[in-house]
Formats: sequence, structure tokens, C-alpha cells
Amino acid sequence: MVEPCIKVDQLRVIYNKGKSNEVRSLDGVSVEIYPEEYIIIYGPSGCGKSTLLYGISGLQAPTYGDVIVQGKNLAQMTKKEKVDFHQTRIGMVFQAFYLIETLTVLDNVCLPKVFRGENLKERREKAMELLRRFGIAEQADKFPATLSGGQKQRVSIARALVNDPEIILADEPVGNLDSESAQNVLDIFKEINSTDKKTLIMVTHNPEHLVYADRIIYMKDGKKVNEEVNNDKRPNEALQKDVAATPEVISSELRLLMRTFKNLSLQQVGVLLIPFKAKQLLSHIISELNEEQIGSAENLLKEFLFKNIDGETLSNKLDLDYDKGGAGWNKMRAMSFTNRTQSILMQADSLNSNQEEGIITFSDYLVNTFQLKLDQDLILRFRAFIKLRVENRVDRFGLQQRLDAPRKIGGIGLYKGTAEKVVREVEVIMLLRYSA
Ligand code: ADP
Ligand code: MG
Repeated sequence: MVEPCIKVDQLRVIYNKGKSNEVRSLDGVSVEIYPEEYIIIYGPSGCGKSTLLYGISGLQAPTYGDVIVQGKNLAQMTKKEKVDFHQTRIGMVFQAFYLIETLTVLDNVCLPKVFRGENLKERREKAMELLRRFGIAEQADKFPATLSGGQKQRVSIARALVNDPEIILADEPVGNLDSESAQNVLDIFKEINSTDKKTLIMVTHNPEHLVYADRIIYMKDGKKVNEEVNNDKRPNEALQKDVAATPEVISSELRLLMRTFKNLSLQQVGVLLIPFKAKQLLSHIISELNEEQIGSAENLLKEFLFKNIDGETLSNKLDLDYDKGGAGWNKMRAMSFTNRTQSILMQADSLNSNQEEGIITFSDYLVNTFQLKLDQDLILRFRAFIKLRVENRVDRFGLQQRLDAPRKIGGIGLYKGTAEKVVREVEVIMLLRYSA
């Protein structure tokens, strides 16, 4: 008998529980989804579609109820199992793409493979194959900012598929696209479901999309109000116990609130980013170690970013021999690495706790770390540029240009190499700021 690959049982997600501004984003939703189904979650803005999708993905913890995916209750997974789940079991596509602007298209698609620690050649081959399939191979070495919306979404679909997960979740994937690009993306989804046999769950508020689905789940005010079948892929038993419609409750407060919370929270993004952070931080700080020494250090660093081990343990284990479960570095290197890691993380924390003060501390830290010789006026100018970047009002290249430009024309006049180093440090810290 075919078992559902996803079981959502009486899922409730309540924000600000018990307070006057309590919001029941999901109010007891149950759904069963079977392998290879194409499901659409449909309903007006603010009705809880995204919350349901993030509940299924494990990015949103239930207030009550259970979510079981491929036999595992998500709430009982460790953080590490959850990351593993995100890397290999599900692929996600969002309206806002969430591409990393400082990586090329190819590297963005490779990202989930970087997490798996696969070698460069394998990663690139699989990623290029997907880029070719979606007609964006020519964009491989470009940065996301130079792509059209439709191209960006195809990149993010390739990223979702690169580890070959069985389930794809998409939150309003064509919401930001013109009609031609939207059609193209919808065709790709259809193909992923029918040819690649992926279980597909797509959230939309556009009734024109409904024809694509095998089954439609209608939502309103946090409840499932109906289900409709276009093409039944479920086993017969499941047909018998079709779910009764729940009565509708209308709340205008929900509609007012909804606008603010369209996107993922920082926390949700943070969980997805941790393995990547470990990788970036490591390659940033280290250059001349062998692969084994880097590989085991990377795992230790992941544990550290997950806060499973503290700085002292990190330092000790880096120093320990391989055969004793360490990374086989020496004591000096282990200590200076740990110090450097901690001071970088401290900058990320201080920017998060108070951005205004954090920018000043951060600028001073950069001046010291890279021994920049700046007079009082230039320090102020430097701070202003760092602020621009921290507030995301310029990209990394914008910052680099400003650091590089001669003082006479308003730049900082750093050597090109120094400007590059400063920019790389800033980018790593910007990445680490997204913290769970
Ligand atoms: P949809 O995706 O259908 O537009 P959502 O699932 O994003 O709806 O949101 C459902 C409801 O939950 C909305 O009223 C929204 O304002 C509210 N909501 C979502 N996230 C939060 C949050 N972090 N805090 C408070 N309310 C939230
Ligand atoms: Mg939504």
C-alpha cells in the first residue's frame, strides 16, 4: 500500500500566543500528501498558505500538532538531522528567489552540494546539467543581479533540484514574474512532476494555476476549507476518507497583519545557511592546509556554529590528531584560528545587537585587523561606506570601488589588494549575521 510521504496532523501555528495580538496563522490543518502528487495550496493572501508550507518544510515549528515527512516527525529531529533533511529530502523555491548575490549563478546552484561536501567537479557537472536543461547555461558565470526575474527563478529551481530531493516546495514561485516568464516556470514545474516524478507542493493565490494540480487544498483564515481532485494519484483507501469542509471564520485583523510577514524570518534563513557559513568562514580564514585537515575542521566548525561545542572544545579538537577524532592541526594554529573565528562572530553579533554602535565597532575592528592608516576624516568616511554596505545600500563591488578610489575623489585610497581583503571580511560577517 502506498503511504503518504507527508502527513500534517491538526497543525496549529499561533503567534503571540495568549497576548492581545495573538494570530492563529494555522488553526488545526490536516493534510496527507502522496508520492508524485502535484498539490496546490490555494487561498487569499494572509490565509496561512506559507505557514503551512514552512510547517511541512520544518522551517516553522508547530505550536500544536504534528508534521511527518517520509516517516519522520520533524519536531523530533535534531538540528543536524533537520539540516540534512533540507539538503537531501526537500528542495525549496521562493517568490523572492533568495539567491546569494555575491556568488555566481553556478555557485548558487552548487551551494546545496557544497553542504554535502562533494568534490568540485561533480558539483559543477550536475549544476551545469540543470542550467543547460533550463536554458540558462550561458548565465553560469554571471552574478544574479544581472539576470531577469524569470532567469533568477530558474536558477533557484536548479538549486532546489541539485541534490535530487523527492519533494519540491514552492511558495508563490511566479508571484514576481511577468506572464511569459511565469508560464515558463509553470511548465518547468509541470515537467518536474510528470517526468522527474517529484512530489510537488506549490502555494499560489492565482486561480489560473489550479489546472496544473492533481489536487487543490483550499485555505481560508488558517483553516483548510476544501479539497478538490483533478487527477487522483492517491491509493483508493485514501479516497474514502476525504476530509469534511471546516466552517469559515472571517477575521479582518489577520488581513491587516499579513502584509508584514510575507517572507522568511531571519531565523528560518539562518538554519538553511549554517553549513554554508561554516564553509565560507573556513575557506576565508585558512589557505594552506591539506584536504583532510580542512574537511575535519569544517565539521568541527559546523558544530561550533550550531553551538553544540564551545570555543575551547573547538580549539582542542582542531589540535587533536585525526585518529583521536581531531583535525590534526597544531596548537598554535588551532588557537589563533579559534580566536579569529570568535572575533569575527563577535562583530556579527555586535552588528545584530545594535546596528548603529555595531558599525562603529566594526569599522574600528577592520581598521585594526588590516592596519589601515587613516586620519580622523578618513575614518568617518570609512565608517560611512561600511554603513552603506551593512545596510545593503551598495553591493560588495560598490564597497570595493569606494575603498579603492583615490582620496581626492572621495574614496579611501586603499591598495587594491587591501580593499579586496577588507571587502571579503565584510562579506563573511554579513553572512554570519543571519543567525538562528
Ligand atoms: P499567506 O502565505 O497565505 O499569505 P501566511 O502564512 O504568510 O499567509 O500568514 C498567515 C497569517 O499569519 C497572516 O495573518 C500573517 O500576518 C500571520 N503571520 C505570519 N507570520 C507571522 C509572524 N511571524 N508573526 C505574527 N503573525 C504572522
Ligand atoms: Mg505567503
